[in-house]
Amino acid sequence: MNIVMSDLKKLTRKINTVILIMVFGLMSFFLVSHAMFLVWFSIPTALIYIFGYYLISKERLDIYLRMVYGWLTLYMSVTTVCLGYGFGFHLYSLSMIPIIFYSEYMAYKLGSKSVHAMLYSVLVIICYLLSTGYSAYVKPVYVVDSYIAGLFWIFNSLTVLGFVTFYSWILIRMTIKSDSLLSERANKDPLTGLYNRHYTMEKLKEAYNGDKPRSIAMIDIDNFKLINDGYGHSAGDEVLKKIASVMTEVCGNGTIGRWGGEEFLILFEGTPGIIEKLRSTVEDTVFEFDGRKIDVTVTAGVASMDKEISLDKWIIEADEKLYYGKNNGKNRVVC
Ligand code: GH3
Ligand code: MG
Ligand code: MG
Repeated sequence: MNIVMSDLKKLTRKINTVILIMVFGLMSFFLVSHAMFLVWFSIPTALIYIFGYYLISKERLDIYLRMVYGWLTLYMSVTTVCLGYGFGFHLYSLSMIPIIFYSEYMAYKLGSKSVHAMLYSVLVIICYLLSTGYSAYVKPVYVVDSYIAGLFWIFNSLTVLGFVTFYSWILIRMTIKSDSLLSERANKDPLTGLYNRHYTMEKLKEAYNGDKPRSIAMIDIDNFKLINDGYGHSAGDEVLKKIASVMTEVCGNGTIGRWGGEEFLILFEGTPGIIEKLRSTVEDTVFEFDGRKIDVTVTAGVASMDKEISLDKWIIEADEKLYYGKNNGKNRVVC
């Protein structure tokens, strides 16, 4: 969800054009209905939106928004007082409030000056109550055919309800998307795409507190420093990524985490045979960087869950077995 100023300017310009066309459309209607005050009132309204183009081009969206919100609220109130609430112009306040709050969010994203959303909303509500209250108790200034009022009522209701529905839908989609992006960033290691140590630890705690028998494998790449020294750090990174994809391919059912630099932890169900399969697959996989072949092997220590010992001891047991494997020839799985 990248909000760029140029995109925002384009969108605002489009919305400004739509509103301006609507202003001219309504102005023609007011003229036909002989609602002369509203015809005159439409002139400063149109000028406001034409000036809006200037503000958008100067990237003064904060001033533009304040001006538009203020004028829209006034317009909504004036048309309601003049024509009566039967036309449904007052309904636009329902769509104004979420837009006002959204612009507060936009300002936060862009790091620009914020609109006081709560204050503006209270103002909109007051104008709504005053104008609808007035038209409920006092006769509207212009009496227009009730058939036309009905048509306006339907058009305005559909526009407002359609907008609020569409807007809420977009907002929820955006929230879900940014939520999953954030949890992805918080739980995963950016280089390998595997879970990070923090998330892996959470999964270990869950497994330890659960009833299913589980095992962990602590896996470390053999002589990784030599790979870095011999082929470069980028080659090392490529090896880490490729190993991660081999792990996902072979042990995809388990939880695979990057525990540290070139050390991984796999939480799995079933026998250690799967880790042996992983070791041999890594040994047989061709690792290439800049056309040069790199021999890669791993050593693993496997420990089954035992409720008699603590979670920390369970991890230490796997670590000690890995250490044993490292001191006894490497490229092996110690159970
Ligand atoms: P052993 O077989 O005993 O495990 O030896 P080793 O060389 O693999 O282990 P050692 O702990 O001596 O070196 C690990 C190296 O891994 C050191 C560190 O620079 C490197 N390393 C850690 N994280 C990364 C990384 O993200 N990318 C790269 N390219 N190297 C890393
Ligand atoms: Mg190593
Ligand atoms: Mg290591």
